Amino acid sequence: MTGRVAGKTALVSGAATGIGQSIAARLAAEGAQVAVADIDETRGAEVVKAIREADGDALFVSLDVTEETAWRAAIDVVESEFGGLDILVNNAGIAIVESVDKMSFEDWRAVMAVNIDGVFLGTKHAVPAMRRAGGGSIINISSILGLTGLEKLSAYCASKGAVRLFTKAVALECGRDGSGIRVNSIHPGYIHTAMMEDTCRRDYGDIAKGLAELGKLHPIGRVGEPEEIAAGVLYLASDESKFITGSELAIDGGYTAV
Ligand code: NAD
Repeated sequence: MTGRVAGKTALVSGAATGIGQSIAARLAAEGAQVAVADIDETRGAEVVKAIREADGDALFVSLDVTEETAWRAAIDVVESEFGGLDILVNNAGIAIVESVDKMSFEDWRAVMAVNIDGVFLGTKHAVPAMRRAGGGSIINISSILGLTGLEKLSAYCASKGAVRLFTKAVALECGRDGSGIRVNSIHPGYIHTAMMEDTCRRDYGDIAKGLAELGKLHPIGRVGEPEEIAAGVLYLASDESKFITGSELAIDGGYTAV
């Protein structure tokens, strides 16, 4: 297959829906073999089916990103089925909205477990696999809320800010050790997914009103689409970005330029 990541293999966490689904589909359309990794087996299987129907190569991997044993198994499957791992997209993420004085420690830990522990575990186990493959690209999906704060999202902001600097620290390790592994973060603005529709219903009463109001927060005047994040991932996954590591790519319609 031809394409901008032809011959490469990828694992995308949280790929059963939303931004991750779009990333998996785009990487496959550009020639990568893609592991669709998620806790949601039903939707994950549908994503794999759609990729195959479009002549792409994909398989489903059951993965809870908070479980180290699950990461080991997922990367083993990718190496044995695809022959190696070249691209890891740490995309799975959750948000819990609550003021800091009301947030339970359990909820704080749940956000941290998925959003930063999951990124650590994926990176920890991908790096040796990528060394075996002779290099690779790790792309961590942070957020505009890893660059700037927002009320009632303290755990989410803390976790996404941690992803930003974790990315840079690992980029330095992998840049200097000659492994050929690059590590970058992406910071989406508000993107039209199920996660965002929840926000619209909760804060604005309905989805259309929420989309319009949240769109106004972005100088470009609208919210983003999952495909616009997938386009950035594709660039960072491909060899076109081979001099880029430790960087943070805001795909946010200008939200953080203010
Ligand atoms: P989503 O809620 O639509 O989808 C998240 C996916 O992650 C789901 O398939 C879910 O099953 C999976 N998932 C959840 N917990 C998991 C776990 N423990 N292990 C494996 N998979 C798990 O979310 P989305 O809007 O597509 O967001 C994707 C990423 O982009 C997240 O990291 C999110 O924080 C980030 N992000 C989203 C927006 C936005 O506006 N949608 C903005 C900035 C950043």
